[in-house]
Order: sequence, then C-alpha cells, then structure tokens
Amino acid sequence: MDLCDARVLQRGPGAAADGLPYYAAQADECRLFEHAARCGLPLLIKGPTGCGKTRFVEHMAARLGRALVTVSCHDDLSAADLVGRHLIAGGDTRWSDGPLTRAVREGAICYLDEVVEARKDTTVVLHPLADDRRMLPIERTGEWVAAAPGFMLVISYNPGYQNLLKGLKPSTRQRFVALEFGYPASEVECAIVATEGGVDATTAARLVALAQALRRLTEHDLEETASTRLLVMAARLTASGLPLQQACRAAIVQALSDDADTVAALDELVRAVLG
Ligand code: ADP
Repeated sequence: MDLCDARVLQRGPGAAADGLPYYAAQADECRLFEHAARCGLPLLIKGPTGCGKTRFVEHMAARLGRALVTVSCHDDLSAADLVGRHLIAGGDTRWSDGPLTRAVREGAICYLDEVVEARKDTTVVLHPLADDRRMLPIERTGEWVAAAPGFMLVISYNPGYQNLLKGLKPSTRQRFVALEFGYPASEVECAIVATEGGVDATTAARLVALAQALRRLTEHDLEETASTRLLVMAARLTASGLPLQQACRAAIVQALSDDADTVAALDELVRAVLG
C-alpha cells in the first residue's frame, strides 16, 4: 500500500497562473501558516469536508518551496504505516522508511488528513515530533530521528464527525497551533466555483446560492452539507454541457443523502432555488 502521495506540483487543473496550486484565501490563514512554518510549530486545521483544507496546504507548501507528503488517514492506519517497517526481499530484511519518516528526514511538510481516523498508536510517534523535541522515535530500529530544518507537521480533522472515541486528546491538541476553516464567504466561494469549475460568474453565483440554502437546512438530519467540493463538481458537469439542475442532482443531492424522502426534499430545494 503506497500511503505516501508526494504531489508533483505543476500547471494543470487547480494550478494558478503563478504556477502555485490555486487557492482563494478565506481570511488571514496564509500568514498564520507562514509564521507557524517559520517558528517550526505544527499546525492543526479544523473544518468540514471539502472546504479547502487540502488545497490550502498544497498551496502553502508550494509557496514556501517545500516538498509535501500527504497521508489520508483511515481507521486501519497504524504508527508503522507512518514510520516504516522491515521488508523481506529475497531472504534479506531491510528497513523501509514510511511517509512520515521520509518527510522528517527531508525537511518536507507532512500533511496527515483526517488524523483522528488513524489508530491510537500513532499519537506515540506524533507527540515527540509535535513538541519542541522535534524528534521521531522509530521503535523497531531504536532510532530517534531529528527533524530536518523545514519539516512541518500539519494535521486536519473534521469536528463535525467528532465523537468521544475519535476526538483528539487534549495532550495532542495542545501541541498544535490551530486554525478553523468554515465554508468560504459567498464572494470567495463564487470565485472558487468559477475558477475551479470553469463556469461564468452568474452560474457560480447560482450554485453558491443553492449551497447557502442547503446549509441553512436544519430539519434534515444530514451528516454533512453542501461543500465547496460538491459545488465545483456540479460546476464542472455544467461546464461540460449538462443542464444545471441535473448536475446539481448528481453532484450535490445524491452525495448528501441516500434517504428517498430527504433526496426528494433536496430536489425540491434545487428546483426552488435554480428553477
Ligand atoms: P478538504 O481538504 O477540506 O476536504 P479540499 O481542499 O480537497 O477540501 O477542497 C475540495 C475542492 O474544493 C478543491 O479541490 C478545490 O477545487 C475546491 N476548493 C475549496 N476551497 C478552495 C479554496 N479556498 N481555493 C481554491 N479551491 C478551493
């Protein structure tokens, strides 16, 4: 399993004219990231899914000229998946660094997306890295690796999913500088949807109006609401020629619920806002 997704930064979808991954700031988060990086402090980004956390980290890594190692955490991810393991090949055993160890040695930014999903043994390796020791313990080899200058640990999680078992422990949280993301303000979100989705400003504004109506819904027990990611997907379908309402049904409504009554109610809202 290749858990490491070291992104090659290049022009293409999501890349702005300056060659950096396109990112529209919500507030002063770029400055905070720069200061945290300068101080060698780890960063915790909280926010709902699809609100721009990953794109922000990609943008900042490119802006600071640092390599980025991204790990999408899941409930099977263990400390060994992050740190590395002994591999057996042709009768020989050799050590293979995991993505976190590579980032620590190379002075890269390591982004652990949805860190609360990972197994609890990961905190043992994250704690000494996230405090002023900046050391990674490799239990299997007995090595303690000092983080190279430039190494930065960034973690994200979605407080909406938080439950008692999956929350971050205070001893972990208090090692990180924290940044809270919400969905972007409407004019920023319109710009994102137009740029990323390839639609005109009017269509982008209609999609954002729909998202705002969906986000105001409280009577339906939706696990998540319409994210910027879903708006961008609907915009792309529209830009490729699908009628707007159909695109919203496919990219937004169906993504939000499997319940037939809820889907019907959301469909009605789509018709009311876009009709
Ligand atoms: P998260 O990591 O919070 O789940 P992402 O960063 O993957 O969300 O964002 C999902 C998509 O939404 C991105 O691929 C991008 O198209 C778009 N997006 C969201 N916020 C922004 C932003 N501030 N600037 C540029 N694109 C954004």
